Amino acid sequence: MIELLLCTDLDRTLIPNGSQPESKGARALFSRLTEVASLQLSYVSGRDQALIQQAIADYDLPTPDFAIADVGSSIYLINHDKWQRWDEWDNDISQDWQGFSGEDLHSMLEDLSLLQRQEVSKQGKYKCSYYLPLEADHQAMIALIQQRFEQKQIKANLIWSIDEAAETGLLDILPASANKLHAIMFLMQQQGFNKQQLIFAGDSGNDLDVLRSPLQSILVANASADVRDALQIERGYTPDNVYFARGNFLGMNGNYSAGIIEGIAHYRPDLLSMIKGLK
Ligand SMILES: [Mg+2]
Repeated sequence: MIELLLCTDLDRTLIPNGSQPESKGARALFSRLTEVASLQLSYVSGRDQALIQQAIADYDLPTPDFAIADVGSSIYLINHDKWQRWDEWDNDISQDWQGFSGEDLHSMLEDLSLLQRQEVSKQGKYKCSYYLPLEADHQAMIALIQQRFEQKQIKANLIWSIDEAAETGLLDILPASANKLHAIMFLMQQQGFNKQQLIFAGDSGNDLDVLRSPLQSILVANASADVRDALQIERGYTPDNVYFARGNFLGMNGNYSAGIIEGIAHYRPDLLSMIKGLK
């Protein structure tokens, strides 16, 4: 019987692509643990399918059982390296868009000249992505788009972020219910896992919806300062369901996969001897 559903963010959570160092051997230990322990593994990422597959190859990550991609707007079932998009999830979130496709939404916004469509590879079936100049009033733009959508009863989640390297604003339009938390809850329900069997690991702002929920979560030691602050402030109001990895566990520093392993040992002390044996 599978006793654990392990859901982890990729960039700067499992993938060591932040400024802090990775403990030597931590990722290999994580891989061995996913092979030996009775668990199912899901990646939860803003990346699309191709970029998740690229990360698996580049960083020698274990092949997961599921992948929640595009910030929760798609879920894939993975069987013997075959990726299959989960139609039930599409049906679930498509209701927010009243049957309209991403192309339909785009045509409703075509006259807004400040919005520049991102590359085809960054568009999803239920994700429309645009560039918006940093000097533009993004709040006014979001309000205008929401107003147009409301006229057609479209429920959308508009996410504004900044690509600092490219010095441009990014605007993603998703179905309102397409987010990491809702996708994880869907996965749990479909696979018959309860809350005690779920562990999530993350590091930054787009993990906050899960970290703030009642689900058991791990914040890796290299997590961004603002996420730490946001959670510390709220800790007085929420159940103690976030484990902050701090390092000094089996000689590892708590960053990235080391933090995930440390958190698993916290929630599942019964697995500690197995983890020590794999080290
Ligand atoms: Mg991350």
